[in-house]
Amino acid sequence: MQETILCKLGEVVLKGLNRRSFEDKLLSNLRRRVSKCGSFRVYSKQSTVYVEPVNDDCDLDAAFRACRQVFGVAAVSRAFPCEKSLPAIVETAKTYLRGALSAASSFKVESKRADKTFPLTSIQLSQQLGGALHQAFPHLAVDVHDPELTVFVEVRDDAAFVHGSAVAGAGGLPLGMGGTAVTLLSGGIDSPVASWMMAKRGVALEPVHFFSPPYTSEAAKDKVLRLARELTPWCGRLRVQVVPFTEIQEEIRRKCPEDFFTLIMRRFMMRLAQACADELGANAIVTGECLGQVASQTMEALRVTEDAAALPVLRPLIGMDKEEIVRLARKIGTFDTSILPFEDCCTVFTPRHPKTKPRLDEARAVEAALDVDALCARAMAGREFVKIKL
Ligand code: ATP
Ligand code: MG
Repeated sequence: MQETILCKLGEVVLKGLNRRSFEDKLLSNLRRRVSKCGSFRVYSKQSTVYVEPVNDDCDLDAAFRACRQVFGVAAVSRAFPCEKSLPAIVETAKTYLRGALSAASSFKVESKRADKTFPLTSIQLSQQLGGALHQAFPHLAVDVHDPELTVFVEVRDDAAFVHGSAVAGAGGLPLGMGGTAVTLLSGGIDSPVASWMMAKRGVALEPVHFFSPPYTSEAAKDKVLRLARELTPWCGRLRVQVVPFTEIQEEIRRKCPEDFFTLIMRRFMMRLAQACADELGANAIVTGECLGQVASQTMEALRVTEDAAALPVLRPLIGMDKEEIVRLARKIGTFDTSILPFEDCCTVFTPRHPKTKPRLDEARAVEAALDVDALCARAMAGREFVKIKL
């Protein structure tokens, strides 16, 4: 028998009639993710997904890390299977958890018995295994309330599994179960986090980036592609649409009053995102906007912005503080790239006094000076598509 990864299902188990399809999606996402780490058999039983190496060439450490980044998995542990008998369970716990048992000062055993024909009850099993481990590691104190180490035994249909503490999984719902959204990806801290948050709820992402050469550099674009790459362990492979935005920005500067520059530019971003979404049959648009963060993110400005899109605009960061966003950015691994100092199209032509309480009729009137449809059509036609592999 070989060491195995156990993934505990999260919210998936709360799905009534839909549970099957959620679980199937989770299994196929897990399979795809661990296939990079070797040959694994992935199957589910009793609210747990088993990720079993098929041969000795499997990289279990890498597979374990990969499983922790699959949405829909609440907790992950590494476990050693053994024969369903007390002596085998004791022996396995002693050898498999030797390091942890030697390092800890207190412990307890928690047993679960899915196989009700097993001769000991869960409590008896915990007591007997606890006694044997205490004998083998006499320095250990038994502490059932706040132990340093919990030894878990699960007696399942085909084997008993012994493991130490589980670590948190990514949580959320399996990717692909929440529809598809176009996500507006800039090089900042916020938009990768916003994208990740929607992916966590099962939404497949279609990133779109607006690029304004020569005002924004090739390095700024590379930074965005790098952020997309950093999202792939969570979101799977991505295809980034890079939309040329220079002509639109220059035209706005030429024909609109300065205090409306940012707002009109953001309305164009919405229109182009909507056009991309229409092509893909996507259900929503995601942005990293956060209430009050900048002038274009007041209630009034958000309303004027989203008026240009027909689909719902999802802003998962809307009520978060910067500090909370930064903490998430660090956790998901995008922070260090986000703070690299490259310009974004939002930071060129910024008005000295942007409107913070714009009116929709004013914005529409200002826009009348532009050939909106032709500008959008040319930007769409000039797109570059960049595939980002997992
Ligand atoms: P971020 O940190 O994500 O860049 P921000 O606080 O800097 O956000 P803005 O620059 O006003 O805020 O942008 C708000 C949102 O608009 C971003 O979170 C992103 O979703 C979208 N956005 C901004 N610039 C671009 C761009 N060049 N390409 C695609 N989306 C963009
Ligand atoms: Mg930005």
